[in-house]
Amino acid sequence: VLRSDLGAPDEPADLVLRGGTVLALDAADTRGTALAVRDGMIVAVGSDATADALTGPQTPVVDLAGRAVLPGINDSHVHATWLGATWPTTVMDAMAAGTGPGSEADAHTGADLPPLVSTEAERRGAILHAGELLASLGITSYTEPGLGPGEDDGETGCFSRAVFDSYVALEREGALRARVTVLALFGVLDGHSDLSTFERGLRGIPELAAAPRDPRRLRLAGVKIFADGIPPMLQAWTRHDYPDGSHGSLLVGGESIDAAAADLRAMIQAADALGLQVGVHATGDRAIATVVDAVAEARRRRGTTVGRADRNTDRNTVRHYVIHGDLVEARTLRAMAELGMGLNVQAGIATRTVDWVRGVLGDDVAEAAWPLRAALQAGVDLSLSSDGPILSPDWRAGIAAADEWMGPAREGGRERRMLDLLRAYTATPARQDGAEGWKGTLEPGKVADLCVLETDPLGVEPCELPSVGVELTVLGGDIVYSAAPALTG
Ligand SMILES: [Zn+2]
Repeated sequence: VLRSDLGAPDEPADLVLRGGTVLALDAADTRGTALAVRDGMIVAVGSDATADALTGPQTPVVDLAGRAVLPGINDSHVHATWLGATWPTTVMDAMAAGTGPGSEADAHTGADLPPLVSTEAERRGAILHAGELLASLGITSYTEPGLGPGEDDGETGCFSRAVFDSYVALEREGALRARVTVLALFGVLDGHSDLSTFERGLRGIPELAAAPRDPRRLRLAGVKIFADGIPPMLQAWTRHDYPDGSHGSLLVGGESIDAAAADLRAMIQAADALGLQVGVHATGDRAIATVVDAVAEARRRRGTTVGRADRNTDRNTVRHYVIHGDLVEARTLRAMAELGMGLNVQAGIATRTVDWVRGVLGDDVAEAAWPLRAALQAGVDLSLSSDGPILSPDWRAGIAAADEWMGPAREGGRERRMLDLLRAYTATPARQDGAEGWKGTLEPGKVADLCVLETDPLGVEPCELPSVGVELTVLGGDIVYSAAPALTG
């Protein structure tokens, strides 16, 4: 399949990869053996002959020797600065070992500990360290979900306004190793926020958003809101009964639960009205339903309907999404699909904490939690992510965990399963970023963000994927990581 429709066909490529498997992960599920890059963009995906025709005397050629090329991985929810400051420790591993912070929230209550980062040098160091780590995993895009004034005096120092300024400085220097989407935070991470502070914060976003030089490298897309806590802490707002008869609550302002829900809806609508994306941490069924209702209401107010049929053509509507979504219900999934909303899930949190959910809400609720299969069947944009450093940012482990959580694939469905899970780390998070027009799949005209694996992922079981090496990472046509120097001469 020759797919070269850009530029002069005889002009040589800047980089050619040939002799392997290329998985475009596009709608047509294009596969080839070679790929060519010019000026940071993909110019062809096809056969080795296609690539050879674009190879000039100066063109560097990577002999894939059976390796596989995927779109660069997008970790669509990772606290990269915090990850860079704490790696190789993850919160989940520390909990399992009984040594570390007991939860994401506990990281903020260790009052006798100095902040992990407090100087500009430390902030830059943490961001760059994370960039190095993520590049070594084939990750070329990520979302840093929640930087803002509510964390300026935070315990970690990893979520403050100064961190955003550090990102801006690094982007201007061309030092970022991945494309970064940032969500602003006008409250405390995993904590309380209120409507008036939130609305005041929104007014400052246009100025902040104008700071990066290249919005494809660094973009302030919108805001993060914490709707509720998590089920094991009895904090997720749910219709189900916790052992003490309670139902959890919301983290936003408001005297009563009804007032809090009204404030949550108002926050979402205020951001939507300004064209800002909203990513809402919501785990309880009632919290999630409230978020989805608010998005539906915002759409009605703006007179925009983004139904399933036309959502691919609507490029002006920001895509709001639910983060975690533990107890999301089937009817809410259907509404999310209709609204073009995304669901951003960490499968490793499901596999590692389901017993706690079982303990507080019972077997039935635990078994129905994190319904990845139902989300895909409903047509919801399902993105998988690490929430690093809660989990390791190793997306190969994320795919193995998602496969384990989803249970056996139907007859003949193994390849479909792997493709679905790979898309949840590439094409679908590009939609979350509103960037599916220029990244997330391997197609001529899209940026040359690539992840090269040791072998074809369609040839291994998902549980084996963590042992398949990442060998090369390319960002905008530039090699940012290489495990085998011989690969690139
Ligand atoms: Zn998070």
